[in-house]
Amino acid sequence: MTFTRRPSRILIVEDDPVSRSLLKNIFHNEGYQVEEAADGIKGLEKAIADPPDLICLDIILPGLSGYEVCRSVKQDKSGASIPILMITSLTKREDIVKGLKSGATDYITKPFSPVEVLARVKVNLDHRFAVKQLLERSGRFELACDVLETTTSSLELKQVLYHLVSKTAEFLDCERCSIISVEGNWGDEGDIPVGRLLVSHDDPNVPELKIDLIKYPEILKSFRTGEVVIVEDVLNDPLMEEVKEKILDLPFRSVMALPLAFRGEILGAMLLRATRADTGFSEEEIIMARIIAGASTNALRNAALYERLTRKNEALERMNEELSIANHELENLSQAKSDFVSMVSHELRTPLTSIIGFSELLAEAHIGELTDEQDEYIRQILRKGKDLLALINDLLDAGRLETGKLAMRYQEVKLENALLAVRSSTRHVTESLPIINTHIPADLPTFEGDADKITQILTNLVTNALKFSPSGSPVDIIASKIRGRRESDRGDLIQISVKDRGIGIREEDRQRIFDQFVQVQQGSSRSFQGAGLGLYICRSFVELHGGKIWVESTLGEGSTFHFTIPIKQS
Ligand code: ADP
Repeated sequence: MTFTRRPSRILIVEDDPVSRSLLKNIFHNEGYQVEEAADGIKGLEKAIADPPDLICLDIILPGLSGYEVCRSVKQDKSGASIPILMITSLTKREDIVKGLKSGATDYITKPFSPVEVLARVKVNLDHRFAVKQLLERSGRFELACDVLETTTSSLELKQVLYHLVSKTAEFLDCERCSIISVEGNWGDEGDIPVGRLLVSHDDPNVPELKIDLIKYPEILKSFRTGEVVIVEDVLNDPLMEEVKEKILDLPFRSVMALPLAFRGEILGAMLLRATRADTGFSEEEIIMARIIAGASTNALRNAALYERLTRKNEALERMNEELSIANHELENLSQAKSDFVSMVSHELRTPLTSIIGFSELLAEAHIGELTDEQDEYIRQILRKGKDLLALINDLLDAGRLETGKLAMRYQEVKLENALLAVRSSTRHVTESLPIINTHIPADLPTFEGDADKITQILTNLVTNALKFSPSGSPVDIIASKIRGRRESDRGDLIQISVKDRGIGIREEDRQRIFDQFVQVQQGSSRSFQGAGLGLYICRSFVELHGGKIWVESTLGEGSTFHFTIPIKQS
């Protein structure tokens, strides 16, 4: 970006009218603007009231000497940077040194040559212009740093925006700098968005006011074009014709409206109002305003994103709350269901126990001889009754497992004893007496466990092995002591395996059969299949002991269920 350089202004302070007029002509011919003063006091006044770009200063002057004028100008805030070219008839070295010491940047002795005067003036003006540009650049840099720091250091939108408009007003010397947001969806032809004043630099506590944007044609134009809109003189610009009357008495003449937009979406506008109608806004000021408008857009976007995030968070929290209420209700329902199942199971068990007991009495022929047909019927009643009892017991156990109401009673367990109970309780599973082969090393140690639960695990596994094997097919029970390898194993373990030569289990089912209510092989010859709880109870009981259960199987060849129980419960 290049900045155009306006003609420089030179102030000539010279009491000799001839020299003054000569200098004036030289400068005029070169295109400079010239101011004149015939004595020191006037010269100083002019230099301070409206600082020129360069001063041509005589040393011997009425009123104040050139040295004094020089010193005073240099002490003034806005005069300090003005280059001073001393033109003097004093040629002694001390006089020249004195002039430089009092702040002069250069000197020329009389009689002077116009070419030399112009050459020195040009060098000094170039130098000043370069310094000025550098200072402005560093000012811009500082402002950009400040803007960056503000927009990244706080999420408080109003605070960020207020800082930005204050900086803009200070840097661009404005009467008022404000930011307006636009609301809702708009953009159809002829639509006028609703504006809301967010911040104004002249009032940190300005309330959020609704703004009728029809009164701000410069803002609407900036929305339409997506560009910065500059009105140098509000009273003479056709854009402001309709609102001219209303702003006639307001203390500004120039306005600048910058759209705050992100990817085509208009979020708002930054509006600058300044008194200057003659100079308007410089290119550099426009660039700075653009930078700050960009930062304001980011702040608005961040705030909108933050708000959206907060709203989403709140919605999530509400959903969480609702979920937790629903969860609680489900827990209550589940508890009611468990209580109901448990109650019904208990109620069923009592009469069932009587049915089984009386059937057994009849079957054992204590009451009298039965015909073959009667004997067959009684055994059927007995078998089905026991199946039903096993199912009810499974339901009760599953309920207790779910509610955590299952107590463990650890004792020294001898596997052979548990197997006696297993044999007895699986006697009626098949029509003929089941073939159960056991392979138990003589030195197999006893282990610490809940004997009833170990019996139940084995009974379930053996019952399944028999159920899913052809009639008369043997089941093997193999036991061994193994070394605990997992960190969770508490010392050595007993591993027990139940092997059948039955229908086998598909690979995809081998994991899920241990879940509640899962039954996968429906094609078995047995009509009574249970409820899909047996293996779930086995897994739960094994895990309560600190062991592990798994299955190996080949479809059509058979399955082997393995489980481990630590020898010692810690
Ligand atoms: P259920 O008591 O209904 O038999 P289980 O939990 O004991 O339920 O078994 C779940 C399913 O796993 C059974 O329905 C069956 O499909 C399968 N399964 C269990 N043991 C065996 C086995 N030894 N051979 C083949 N399939 C089996």
